[in-house]
Amino acid sequence: MAKATFHFYGELNDFLPANKRQVEIEHFFGEKGSIKDMIESLGIPHPEVDCIEVNGASVDFSYIVQDGDVINVYPISAATKTPILSLVRPQPPKVIRFVLDIHLGKLASSLRLLGFDTLYRNDYDDAELAAISSTQMRILLTRDKGLLMRSAVTYGYYVRNTDPQQQIVEVLRRFNLFKLVSPFARCLRCNGLLKPVTKQAIIDKLPENIQRDVKEFHCCQGCAQIYWKGSHYEKLQQFIDGVLDCNR
Ligand SMILES: [Zn+2]
Repeated sequence: MAKATFHFYGELNDFLPANKRQVEIEHFFGEKGSIKDMIESLGIPHPEVDCIEVNGASVDFSYIVQDGDVINVYPISAATKTPILSLVRPQPPKVIRFVLDIHLGKLASSLRLLGFDTLYRNDYDDAELAAISSTQMRILLTRDKGLLMRSAVTYGYYVRNTDPQQQIVEVLRRFNLFKLVSPFARCLRCNGLLKPVTKQAIIDKLPENIQRDVKEFHCCQGCAQIYWKGSHYEKLQQFIDGVLDCNR
């Protein structure tokens, strides 16, 4: 049997069993394979990996692991990264956009509420999610490791928290998005952009008390949903303030 020694850094340890975290892992293998496959066989989805160093030199995902290799694997977080290592993927897209799996509906709404371009439908299957992520250069957010390990996925992230409010803070932190928050710019239903609309243009669609009491309206350019600062608004604003407070 051949043997390689792996050391996983930072948040990559989240994917390892407790007894393998923050220690050198001796991995025995019979058939030679790519380093990408070997890392995933140890439980770590490839989109979480940013740099790989073998015997002191950086390699990409296609490297074939050899007997005796000493392998350091680094996550995307800058804290543990050595700058001389090359990336295993192209630079991330300049504009951060997302596609979310079926289980992250609340996170999808929160991202839209904060203005981020977020595709979400409850009928996308895994192959579609991976394809959308790949062709549209969207970051795939999921809690399904198998989905992240699909080869089509280049940009993806495993959401650690299960609580939706903690999830939104986690994602804003991970992608450094706090400064880009733009609340009430996007439709919560369809992800379309909102634009101001005069009351006159939509008056026949409004309940009587809203016709009387509200002056400002926005309309979704995707689905024509009309938005105004109604009874729900204060709750949403409180939610946004709570999220932004986590960055202070
Ligand atoms: Zn809409």
